[in-house]
Amino acid sequence: MSVFSAKKKLVFATVVYWVLLTYIITALVWWFIALQNQNTLMANMRLAEINKDDPAYLQKAAVIEDSKARKTAQYIGEGATFFALILLGAVFVFNAVRKQIKLSQQQQNFMMAITHELKTPIAVTKLNLETLQRRQLQEDTHQKLIKNTLQETNRLNSLCNNILLASQLEAGLNTTSQQDINLSELVESSVKDFAIRFTDRQIIGNIDEAIYINGEEILIEMLVNNLIENALKYSPKTGAVTISIKENTDAVLLQVSDEGIGIADVDKKRIFEKFYRAGDENVRTTKGTGLGLYLCKKIMQGHRGTISVTNNQPQGSIFTASFNV
Ligand code: ADP
Repeated sequence: MSVFSAKKKLVFATVVYWVLLTYIITALVWWFIALQNQNTLMANMRLAEINKDDPAYLQKAAVIEDSKARKTAQYIGEGATFFALILLGAVFVFNAVRKQIKLSQQQQNFMMAITHELKTPIAVTKLNLETLQRRQLQEDTHQKLIKNTLQETNRLNSLCNNILLASQLEAGLNTTSQQDINLSELVESSVKDFAIRFTDRQIIGNIDEAIYINGEEILIEMLVNNLIENALKYSPKTGAVTISIKENTDAVLLQVSDEGIGIADVDKKRIFEKFYRAGDENVRTTKGTGLGLYLCKKIMQGHRGTISVTNNQPQGSIFTASFNV
């Protein structure tokens, strides 16, 4: 399904929705007018039946008028209740349909992104290996190809991990195997790995020693790696990425800050939604699936913590994961 047909679907659903809603409300108004007319007719007939010379005429007429007024009030009450229920249902359906269409658009973007993300490293790895097999290369070119191949397989690996973890988390996070983790060591080792992989980048560790949290090591590793990877991905090569860990009286704070493109206020909450990527898929140049931050949020929820993003000064973003202690 192309983006165009998704838009057409949305327009069709919106038109059907408004036509139906207008029809239901018109039917309700028509029902009210018909009942009210009938009410007036009945009252007039009953009035016509009483003899004007009857000494109790005025009293009887008042009783008929009173009953007509009560009927009118009853119709208005019932009509208003129906109207409120219809409006409530309409708002509910509108939100549900919009959410569903948005989700299916995001899933579509996700499928496009994931196909690209899977195909590129496989194609690059295949080409590199074929070149290594067929040609006698100089040592430095040989090493460069191997490094490039390793980078691509690392990307493939973290992508597969994210996809697997996302489907596991959908089924509920398993928190039974939580243990004490030396967060300082874990982050230090992650920072070292990134420094080896990205030799041209400035990656600064600002890590207080021996800070422990209770949790699932693989998940925390994934959280840290996703945040550092994003910080590198969404900032220029000249921008430094700083990872810090601090402990205060009630929380352990893990912060990853960059000097990159930053995040607009409207996107600050939404980037933690599944498949959400800021900007337009057609003009976006960075690779990704919109799963990383969703997983980070899920992981933090599973560790009784929170994750949020704020602006870095003068530019960039700061992601803060806070573990309650
Ligand atoms: P992905 O990076 O695969 O698109 P994520 O879930 O990790 O998915 O991130 C969601 C979106 O949040 C990204 O598409 C990007 O627009 C934005 N984002 C994440 N991290 C940063 C960052 N450090 N700086 C600027 N934007 C970011």
